[in-house]
Amino acid sequence: MFNSQPTLIQAGAVMDGAGVLARPGVVAVSAEGWVVYAGPPAGVPAAFLADSVAQIRLPDRLVVPGFVNAHTHLELTGIGPRPYDGDFPGWLEQVVREKPATDAAWWASYEAGLAASAMAGTVAAGDIVAHDKVKEALQARFKWEIWGMAYAEQFGLGAVCRIPQGYELFSEKRIGIQPHAPYSAGPLLFETASQSGFPLSTHLAETTEELEFVARGTGPFRELLEKLGKWKPQYAAAYQAGLTPVEWMRPHLAAAHWLLAHVNYASDADLVILARTGTSVAYCPVASDYFGHKNHRYRDMLAYGINVCLGTDSAICQPASEPHPLGVLPQMRHLFLRDATDPLLLLKMATVNGAKALGLAEDFATFKVGAEARPVALTFDPENPESPLAQALRRSEPAEPLFPHLP
Ligand SMILES: [Zn+2]
Repeated sequence: MFNSQPTLIQAGAVMDGAGVLARPGVVAVSAEGWVVYAGPPAGVPAAFLADSVAQIRLPDRLVVPGFVNAHTHLELTGIGPRPYDGDFPGWLEQVVREKPATDAAWWASYEAGLAASAMAGTVAAGDIVAHDKVKEALQARFKWEIWGMAYAEQFGLGAVCRIPQGYELFSEKRIGIQPHAPYSAGPLLFETASQSGFPLSTHLAETTEELEFVARGTGPFRELLEKLGKWKPQYAAAYQAGLTPVEWMRPHLAAAHWLLAHVNYASDADLVILARTGTSVAYCPVASDYFGHKNHRYRDMLAYGINVCLGTDSAICQPASEPHPLGVLPQMRHLFLRDATDPLLLLKMATVNGAKALGLAEDFATFKVGAEARPVALTFDPENPESPLAQALRRSEPAEPLFPHLP
């Protein structure tokens, strides 16, 4: 941790997604980097009033916990933002072509993703990583103290799940498996992944092209698979029942906990399946709009009791003008400005819901006593009576991590 002595942060306001709200507010942090107290100044423990305690005074800042980016591809950061022309299979082909080709290029791209995440106040990620890089990627990430999951990405319509190397090095379940999507990974891969005992994620119900392929085995994804020589006639049987992607996934969702990226398209029946199976959804609003998807049902999902968290997806889908392309705050701002979503709900999606989806401790990304203190400051006007978080979401200043951890 950056702080090596007890520190008292005195802020214009303090807020988390687990019930802390004080204006003005303080966060008392132990020398070891744990939250000792968060709330109104009157409740500060006496030990934190001593002269030996470091003081950080931030009267025009709202202090919140660090963010959880529940779905991202840090290894693609080096490609940078790119325009989208409306052809999703063509876009995927371009990404595959431009993926870092050498080991050195891969690491440069991955390190760029780590640095961008840390600067944006991200303290945990659900990161999708090339299968053979997953152990080293997670070790590099932990040096930056960006906790959470590395999901080993796997492909193949006729493939079975492979066990990632090195998972035994991590005390908790921090390495997972990500069959890429139903059009690029077949039912056997999803089934064997569900039985593996590893944490699981996939891209689901992302595009209308996927809906067509899953329901009937036809359309642009079928054409792409044929062009790439990856289609065999025996695969067709799994994609002829007219199912939605969520219905297609139902047996796998029932067999294990899944974190689904996107779910841009969901019927009422789909929402019931997601709720009954305890599935988590990582919504990536900027990426979803970049691809032209409309009317994401994240608020309906939350009303159904589904755990919805926020992700950035890759840097490719972010605006070139965004100073923090891998930041979660820009995702919150996007939803606040587009939908007028309740700010506290957005903070929960950006912190505690993501922590739950990634299997992190219950106090992770909160200011509960004993939680790891990774506070982030957001600018607001203390003279303005409006909620500090609503102000911070309407403004454009980037998030500032207060204890930045650089390896
Ligand atoms: Zn993705």
